[in-house]
Amino acid sequence: MHPNGPLLAIQGLSCAYAGQAAVIDVGLALQPGELGCLLGPSGCGKTTLLRAIAGFHEPTAGTLQLRGVDARPLPPEKRGLGFVFQDLALFPHMTVADNVAFGLHRLDTATRGPRSLETLALLGLESLASRYPHELSGGQQQRVALARSLAPRPDLLLLDEPFSSLDADLRGRLRDDLRALLKRLGIAALLVTHDQEEAFAFADTVGVMQAGRLLQWAPGFELYHRPATPFVASFVGDGRFLPARVIAGNRVATALGELDVIAGLPWAIGSDVRVLLRPDDLVPTDTGGIEAEVSAVAFRGAESLHTLRLDDGTALSALFPSHQQRTPGQRVRVRPDLAHVVVFPAADPA
Ligand code: ATP
Repeated sequence: MHPNGPLLAIQGLSCAYAGQAAVIDVGLALQPGELGCLLGPSGCGKTTLLRAIAGFHEPTAGTLQLRGVDARPLPPEKRGLGFVFQDLALFPHMTVADNVAFGLHRLDTATRGPRSLETLALLGLESLASRYPHELSGGQQQRVALARSLAPRPDLLLLDEPFSSLDADLRGRLRDDLRALLKRLGIAALLVTHDQEEAFAFADTVGVMQAGRLLQWAPGFELYHRPATPFVASFVGDGRFLPARVIAGNRVATALGELDVIAGLPWAIGSDVRVLLRPDDLVPTDTGGIEAEVSAVAFRGAESLHTLRLDDGTALSALFPSHQQRTPGQRVRVRPDLAHVVVFPAADPA
């Protein structure tokens, strides 16, 4: 046991199905009590990575330590983890209380009942203790599944799209309740989702995966403001790219004018690059800036997301207050309103 080390430490982890790579060279660490999330498009390897951590999938390479100890030789039940998968698998012939007590076989019988009830109460389920799963709503069943996995008080909970069958409102509430509960109990978690909003609302640290690789493992703020690759930049928060040319160690020239760059540029002066622009980086203006044509408008409540096309064909997006909403075909002037831009090579498929 490493009292000061990470709870979960993975290095160079790879997984495959019949020789086909599904997870490639993944490294990450999760601290005790930290809430992490694996985010990425369908098929990028999130579930496979989670199953490898749980012990349901044997990696082809890499190290996996839990509490400072090599976990790869351990079967799932010896890893001391809680799981909640998409498929809830509540026992239909058992009451809610018995479902929750099911995972407590290691506790003596006198402790099981009180622990089960205490956990039901934490999830607001006390009044449903004697019901059977078919007598519950979908959201209540999810809460029972969470209670069952939390009852043994694991130090790490693995969650694979646990809210995906619920409607948006219930999903948001359950996610927020679970986050607060895990923080209160000091339990770490790793959540798999393809929903950005869910990832950022739930997790302290978010990992963006693409085609088996973990591209970045960082707090949401950093993913948004300092994305490590163009894929992270465009996957998180609707980033668009504008062609640019390096004109000094910390400055680039673009169709929108000269822009400052966050860090020292590794490219020679004159190199072609591209800069990341977020929808909130462009504001409407009467003078200066650049003219563009509105090609699409998506209403988002207080603001509307405008897709703009510059005369050279570059597409950008911009958030304008709803009362300043334009219509497709209209010409607008925009100017950049940002302190620094993030720069990527001109051509990089990742
Ligand atoms: P989703 O968000 O759709 O659940 P995911 O990111 O969780 O996707 P995985 O389920 O880990 O992705 O799948 C990663 C890759 O491995 C995909 O190409 C998938 O087709 C493949 N794969 C997953 N399970 C199996 C399996 N049992 N046999 C063969 N290939 C599999």
